[in-house]
Amino acid sequence: MPSALHRRGDAAPDGDRLRSCAIAGRSFGRAIALPGLLLLVATTACRTPTAAPIAPVAPTRMASHPAVPPLAPAPAPTAVVSPTLDVIATTSLVGDVVKAVGGERVAVHVLIGPDSDPHDYKPSPGDLAAIEAATIVFENGLHLEVSLEPLLASFHPAGDRGAQRIAVSDGIATMRGAPPADPADNPHVWWDPVRVKVWVRNIAAALAAADPPGSAVYQANATAYTAELDALDIWIRAQTSAIPPDRRVLVTDHEVLGYFAAAYGFTEIGAVVPSVSTEAEPSAKDLAALEAAIAAHGVTAIFTGETVPTALGERVAADTGTRLVSIYAEALSAPDGPAGTYVAFMHHNVTTIVEALR
Ligand SMILES: [Zn+2]
Repeated sequence: MPSALHRRGDAAPDGDRLRSCAIAGRSFGRAIALPGLLLLVATTACRTPTAAPIAPVAPTRMASHPAVPPLAPAPAPTAVVSPTLDVIATTSLVGDVVKAVGGERVAVHVLIGPDSDPHDYKPSPGDLAAIEAATIVFENGLHLEVSLEPLLASFHPAGDRGAQRIAVSDGIATMRGAPPADPADNPHVWWDPVRVKVWVRNIAAALAAADPPGSAVYQANATAYTAELDALDIWIRAQTSAIPPDRRVLVTDHEVLGYFAAAYGFTEIGAVVPSVSTEAEPSAKDLAALEAAIAAHGVTAIFTGETVPTALGERVAADTGTRLVSIYAEALSAPDGPAGTYVAFMHHNVTTIVEALR
């Protein structure tokens, strides 16, 4: 769902701008009503959990002293663990963190995977089967997936035992859109790794509740991954410190970087589409105001998500002498791409932002 979460032209009601930062899924109803169509849709990517990487074996030096005891025999290889839980993650970002916490005990099916456009997304037969079989559905929450609601509700109605829906962002200190138009919570919490630590806690708790024998494994994985997030936060602080304060100004295609800006001392001065949604056309007045702000702040780059239409952005860039710089805003890349995991996503994006601004 690369940043095409909200494509212009797919009109949403006024006043629903933050909410429309949601995965659009009007097509779901049609897809359910017309199951024959499902035969035509492509299967979305679904990564199965991979075995933990085998630690590289240190090269063995020839013993120069005869008293050195022989190496102990290698332990017998551990049997491959079959996943204990089948779960759903709505987005590739949520799915990656679930995989980090669940490890080999959890098979994660991501509904809207890398390279998938949520506006064109239709559940494949594999998606529907996975949803039906899942024990837990992990969602970002904060209204990001509001358009998936009819689909998920049809499979996991409230009160259906054994079919939990977990909003991983529950408990996060949220930010709001710019009043008065965007009074709802900003859903783009993953742009702050410290907030993602709340995802980790929620995911570990939900997995442990569903699979008590795995509790210790989930807790250990959560602890290790939380340490990775702390290290990522420290790394981002070090990287962004290279940008002079007067250049810590962000312009985006739509308002996705609010949490990043707040966490690392940036100001999001405007967006080509002045909303967390790209569904509304900015007015001529909006564009004039943005271009004036760009000029006033000496902005040199506009950050755009991978698949958001760029025609307007190109126009603003041409008008203001700035350039468009691509980031991964709302989804991972393919696994072998530059943003194949959440941590890689942040590394890639921060490096891109720092290089563009300093
Ligand atoms: Zn968004």
